[in-house]
Amino acid sequence: MNDSAIGDVIRAAAFAADKHRDQRRKDHAASPYINHPLAVASELTRHGIVDPITIQAALLHDTVEDTETSPEELVEQFGERVASVVMEVTDDKSLPKAERKRLQILHAPEISDRAKLVKLGDKICNARDVSSNPPADWSHDRRREYLEWTREVVDGCRGVYAELEASFDELTLGALADLE
Ligand code: NDP
Ligand code: ZN
Repeated sequence: MNDSAIGDVIRAAAFAADKHRDQRRKDHAASPYINHPLAVASELTRHGIVDPITIQAALLHDTVEDTETSPEELVEQFGERVASVVMEVTDDKSLPKAERKRLQILHAPEISDRAKLVKLGDKICNARDVSSNPPADWSHDRRREYLEWTREVVDGCRGVYAELEASFDELTLGALADLE
């Protein structure tokens, strides 16, 4: 990554930290929300994905869905390419939750390769959280249902980066076996 790309990536991390500043994850410790986008970006770089557009989108992936951030703001701050990847992984929050989950499965095969990488990183991190740092009030059944749903979404993202898919498979097969 060149100097200006590193600057862009750090700027995306700082922007996301500011936008998520009042939010917490759902785990027992109520971890700061920003830990999650940082974990997703880190999961991708750990597997050798260092494309700056993808990493910026990973850092920003929950800003439009979960904070007062507009797509236009992302275009202005980070450019069309980053903004469009973020929008590809953003659910329409006007729809009921079950419908959003159904659409994620349906649309995963149609999104761009960059968006598939961000989605894979997101599902890996959420599956890891559900297996070792789950939402405080989730039963075993709910955790298992969640992991099974993530597998359906990830199945639509296959064929882009085998190593990342293998990492997801290993994680969720182990987690599902533990929940048996
Ligand atoms: P939620 O969408 O409410 O919660 C999961 C999401 O929360 C993740 O995708 C992640 O999204 C975020 N998150 C924050 N902290 C954590 C954490 N520590 N671990 C994992 N994820 C975290 O839940 P569901 O996916 O279950 O969706 C709700 C659906 O479940 C509805 O359709 C509802 O009807 C159904 N439901 C099922 C129940 C059951 O027992 N089976 C009970 C109640 C509802 P992000 O990356 O975007 O932050
Ligand atoms: Zn996320």
